[in-house]
Amino acid sequence: MERFLKPNIKKEGREIAYFSMEVGLTSDMPTYSGGLGVLAGDTIKSFVDLKVPAVAVSLVYNKGFFRQSIDEEGNQHEKEDDWDKNRFLTLLPNKVSVTIENRNVQIQCWEYMAKSDTGYFVPVYFLDTDVEGNDDYDRTLTHWLYGGDKRYRFHQEMVLGIGGVRMLKELGYSASKFHMNEGHSALLILELLNETMSDIEQDYEKKYDFETVKEMCVFTTHTPVPAGHDSFDMDMVNNSLGDFYPMDKLESNRDGKLCMTYLALNHSSYINGVAKKHGEVSRHMFPGYQIDSITNGVHSKSWVCDSFQKLFDLHLPGWGKDPYNLRYALSISNEEIWNAHILAKTQLMDYIRDTQGIELDTSIMTIGFARRSTQYKRADLIFNNIEKLMDVEKNGQIQIIYAGKAHPNDSGGKEIIKRIVEIGKRISDRIKVVYLPDYKISLGKILISGVDLWLNTPKRPLEASGTSGMKAMHNGVPNLSILDGWWIEGCIEGETGWSIGPLITSHEQENDDIQDSDDLYYKLKDIIIPMYYNDRNRWIRIMKHCIAFNASFFNTHRMVQQYVINAYF
Ligand SMILES: *Cc1c(COP(=O)(O)O)cnc(C)c1O
Repeated sequence: MERFLKPNIKKEGREIAYFSMEVGLTSDMPTYSGGLGVLAGDTIKSFVDLKVPAVAVSLVYNKGFFRQSIDEEGNQHEKEDDWDKNRFLTLLPNKVSVTIENRNVQIQCWEYMAKSDTGYFVPVYFLDTDVEGNDDYDRTLTHWLYGGDKRYRFHQEMVLGIGGVRMLKELGYSASKFHMNEGHSALLILELLNETMSDIEQDYEKKYDFETVKEMCVFTTHTPVPAGHDSFDMDMVNNSLGDFYPMDKLESNRDGKLCMTYLALNHSSYINGVAKKHGEVSRHMFPGYQIDSITNGVHSKSWVCDSFQKLFDLHLPGWGKDPYNLRYALSISNEEIWNAHILAKTQLMDYIRDTQGIELDTSIMTIGFARRSTQYKRADLIFNNIEKLMDVEKNGQIQIIYAGKAHPNDSGGKEIIKRIVEIGKRISDRIKVVYLPDYKISLGKILISGVDLWLNTPKRPLEASGTSGMKAMHNGVPNLSILDGWWIEGCIEGETGWSIGPLITSHEQENDDIQDSDDLYYKLKDIIIPMYYNDRNRWIRIMKHCIAFNASFFNTHRMVQQYVINAYF
């Protein structure tokens, strides 16, 4: 009875091996922390829908990222996120090992099958060092995402890069392209070099087939500042790796350290940034490298709320399989668009009432802001001048909903949450401010579809791409954002949303908080609020433009097609 058996994954045809430090596939599998992981998950989902012969590799994180709660004063509290892997994953019998600091570390793996209605599958392998017989420390290497010190991180990256390549081989795969989603997995280059090493050549120079390995590697960089790039002390690196690898032959040095970005840049045949602007910033940061750009996207079907799914099913059949169909959203009636939006908004308000005991008014214009809480995102920019904000509110009521975790070590990020909660209390008689705890995929979906306006205020050029605004677009929610990352491409002023402050083109120009917040107040007061309350038809036209012009393009189906065309085959 073959149809009852688990599908037999054809391993020999899997040309693409996709490596990512974090993968966010569903809300309850805490193997991601934020944008990078959600992007990886969405990418894998589009691989499935488009039947791209890929296989993905990550780490399992037995203790998850962390669960966040926020107290009355706005302090963040963190709790371990123990989860039941057996609910989602199957432990395979296969094992490989990696030598770390002369210790033999056994690695096992958990299999996740990403599937779609087409019947196609993409396997995702989550590596796990919590294996009996391993040293206590080694057993913790796959416990915490972005936890521990530099040494711990490097050892995690050894498991991911070196262990990942070995595991794929052990499982019977023979990929021809290795896609590194950010530099964390760049040690896979070492293992590929090892695999292609010929024993015949005596000449050390010729032992490693650098050219073949380069041909096999694809690198996507996500970090627009030099300090953001992972680098490790050479002593620790040598001590960890042993003399097994041709470190002296690799071009990966930066200031005497092993820089994962340089390792990947020098040994990949295709390199890209994640938005046009980010490509440009990366070329400026790494002169001499050919760096292309493929703008990120989101998996359309995963980020459209129920009411809009129904509407799209009715008017734009096939939109999930082929999101280019979203281009025709202009033909949907205003009334239907607005009704679908009000359903989503009511759901959000219900969620907030049920979980926080706070009643918000569905008729008030609602602004949403959710992302990792860290200083450069400037979540509190809208509170830069409270007097001016109060003046804005005279033109029509607003309420603001926040969410976002601060990394446990990021005290600046925690301060911002505290500040928002404190200011929220002070101005609550005029503007209601709610900070929702434990931002994750499921909450993200409720939030981005249920607000009227999506706000983003990062310091330029630090938003390499940004994706939550794209999710909002899929639900007809316009953005009000700094011109950075994807929004430089997606913003048609007054048609898909609004920009904040100037477009900065020079690489030296600084961000001016006052200039940016003043522009934010001006746009809200004189353009956005009056239109929302007094010209609803104009507002709904903008909502349709968001879907037609932006959701039809800023999705992972288009993005994966661009990787196929430019990077993979
Ligand atoms: C989409 C998403 C992000 C990334 O959003 P950005 O706008 O890129 O910061 C982070 N966390 C969660 C849970 C998300 O769904």
